[in-house]
This record gives sequence, C-alpha cells and structure tokens, in this order.
Amino acid sequence: MEILLTCTKCKIEKPESEFRNQTSTKTKKKAYCIPCDNLYNKNRYLAKKDKCIEKVLLWQSKNKRKIKGYKSKFLLNKKLKNQPKENINTTILESAEPTVIPINDNIQIC
Ligand SMILES: [Zn+2]
Repeated sequence: MEILLTCTKCKIEKPESEFRNQTSTKTKKKAYCIPCDNLYNKNRYLAKKDKCIEKVLLWQSKNKRKIKGYKSKFLLNKKLKNQPKENINTTILESAEPTVIPINDNIQIC
C-alpha cells in the first residue's frame, strides 16, 4: 500500500510517488507535489533568470566530463528510439545481461 502525503502548497493528499525525493527531509520526499514543484521552479527561474543561467554555465565549465557522459547517453537513447520496435526489444535483452567479448587473449566484460 502506498503512503499518502499532503502537499504543503496545494494542500491535496497524494500518493508518495507524486513527490520528488529529497534526502534531507524526514519523509525523504519534497514538501511540494511534482506539479507544484514544477510551478515553483518555473517561477523561481523566471524571477532570477540571469542568476540561474550564470550558475548553470559555471557548473558546466566545472563538469565538462559529466556533460560528455550525459551527451553520449542521450545520443545512445536517441539511437535506440529510432530503431524499429523488434530491434529495441532484442537490444534491451542483450544489454540486460553482461556480454563477454574476447579481444585477442584478454576477456573484456561489458
Ligand atoms: Zn501540490
């Protein structure tokens, strides 16, 4: 049975899955439900647009390696989406189990 939480913004009782995770709180969930949190974040962004962009650019300059990883993951997902459905199923099944690829005499596990 799913636990119900009350959103502090709209005061509606909703299932736990409708709240984002936040490790610092007692319930391990945010106080706002996802739609209220989205609205809050949107308004905060519009109010402090320049500061938000500045912060993101600073983070991006410090985390170039992470961004490269995200981009390659995004491109891989995009490639999987463009494949016909039959191929996607086989690709997911293949990637679920570790594959052993012998390269010369060394064995590489992916
Ligand atoms: Zn809410």
